Amino acid sequence: MYDVVIIGAGVSGASIARELAKYKLKIAVLEKENDVADGTTKANSAIIHAGYDAKEGTLMAKYNALGNQMYDKIAEELDIPFKRIGSLVLAFSDKEKEHLKMLYERGLKNGIPDMKILNFSEIKEMEPNINKKVVAALYAKTAGIIGPWELTIGMLENAVDNGVELYLNNEVINIEKTDNEFKITTKEKDFKTKVVINCAGVYADQIHNLIAKPSYKITPRRGQYFVMDKMEGEKVNRVIFQCPTEVGKGVLVTPTVHGNLLLGPDSQEVNNKEDTSTTTEQLAFVREKALKSIENLNLREVIRSFAGLRAEADRGDFIIEEANDIKGFIDVGGIKSPGLSAAPAFAVDVAKMVVEILNRNGKIEENKKFNPIRKKQIRFMELSNEEKSEIIKKDSKYGRVICRCETITEGEIVDIIHRSVGARTVDGVKKRCRPGMGRCQGGFCGPRIQEILARELNLTLEEIVLDKKNSYILTEETKK
Ligand SMILES: Cc1cc2nc3c(=O)[nH]c(=O)nc-3n(C[C@H](O)[C@H](O)[C@H](O)COP(=O)(O)OP(=O)(O)OC[C@H]3O[C@@H](n4cnc5c(N)ncnc54)[C@H](O)[C@@H]3O)c2cc1C
Repeated sequence: MYDVVIIGAGVSGASIARELAKYKLKIAVLEKENDVADGTTKANSAIIHAGYDAKEGTLMAKYNALGNQMYDKIAEELDIPFKRIGSLVLAFSDKEKEHLKMLYERGLKNGIPDMKILNFSEIKEMEPNINKKVVAALYAKTAGIIGPWELTIGMLENAVDNGVELYLNNEVINIEKTDNEFKITTKEKDFKTKVVINCAGVYADQIHNLIAKPSYKITPRRGQYFVMDKMEGEKVNRVIFQCPTEVGKGVLVTPTVHGNLLLGPDSQEVNNKEDTSTTTEQLAFVREKALKSIENLNLREVIRSFAGLRAEADRGDFIIEEANDIKGFIDVGGIKSPGLSAAPAFAVDVAKMVVEILNRNGKIEENKKFNPIRKKQIRFMELSNEEKSEIIKKDSKYGRVICRCETITEGEIVDIIHRSVGARTVDGVKKRCRPGMGRCQGGFCGPRIQEILARELNLTLEEIVLDKKNSYILTEETKK
């Protein structure tokens, strides 16, 4: 019998799992996909927002403000890429300037520090490539950029190293409750637990409805992006937003933590909870909007497009509560933006809710052995020449470069395969240490990664998939 079962291994489930690992509890995380961070957490703008955007008094505002402050420590403990580069919201007219003032006031109400409204020459000094038509900008110093899947993998790896159990390929299909215990049925097996935490992203409403009376509906709102080559990565120094609209924070231009440039997203309601396709029309919209901020973007340097799905709930705010009619069932639903920024903060409160529920039947103790530190990843490219030769002397696999675009070595790939939340797929390797993220998008290194995965996991080449289940790369021999 588990004390807690968490459904969904995105940033919400991962943050809560790590927070709960600080208590003496038996915890399982169930994920339907074959890897963690495969839902919305895989595809978003990767911004740790300052916190002026969400309306005061909402859970989004509260947890964004608190979460933002937690990120320096989290990044340090978990060895994940995070840069506090600041953000600018641009205004192109006097009307938009009024909007900036409203955001500034709202930021003050939300308790956001270090904000300032800048004039054109101040902006130009910070961002030499900014469009001449900009009239003002709201500068927020505390905004940052992060690796969202590295964060989630780091959180879960640390949680697993502290005793949490992770079950991939376990899609929840039924939940029943008898007395004080739940029976969760996945396509693989049954789990008994005292508390359930629903972190199923765009599917959170469906999971809720398996056991409780319907109380919210989630509609996916798709956002499409361009990723540009590192050659364009220095066109901006900060996260450049435009004035937000009713449906989102608008199209941004931002560096990524690894030095690429990201343009997007648009905002479009879709019917299908799996529809992460990109479309010519919407990408044209993203291109046009991005050029409005930075005129001299070279769009020939686009190396990839992708889309993510916002979990838009009909209640308009995060839904973080114990279900009225089912005690012990906690919803963490409607986690749209700023979910990434807010997750570590709401995880603290969800953990408190769980402890309170479990305390009804006896005292829950802290886990004094909890170790917040995750073993560091060697990032070969970032080492000095002396450090590089030292490491190659210890393990010659660090002397074999597998990804030429990003300079990723075999040693780094082998390391991330054998961690407690290790890579099992070609994209799983890419999410953890970046081969395939460069200009050639895996054209050179893909087959080598497949070989390394097969060798290290003792599988055949045909058994290695690109990403999700059944995304086979090789099916049979072409030459005998
Ligand atoms: C376009 C876009 C831009 C964004 N930009 C930002 C940003 O810049 N900053 C920010 O703070 N936030 C941003 N967000 C929001 C942020 O990405 C999300 O809030 C966050 O990733 C949600 O994480 P989650 O864990 O709740 O959901 P998910 O990451 O979707 O995780 C849910 C998990 O549950 C699993 N699951 C579903 N059903 C089942 C089942 N039946 N059984 C088992 N497992 C199941 C899924 O496979 C998935 O892995 C953005 C979102 C989008 C779409």
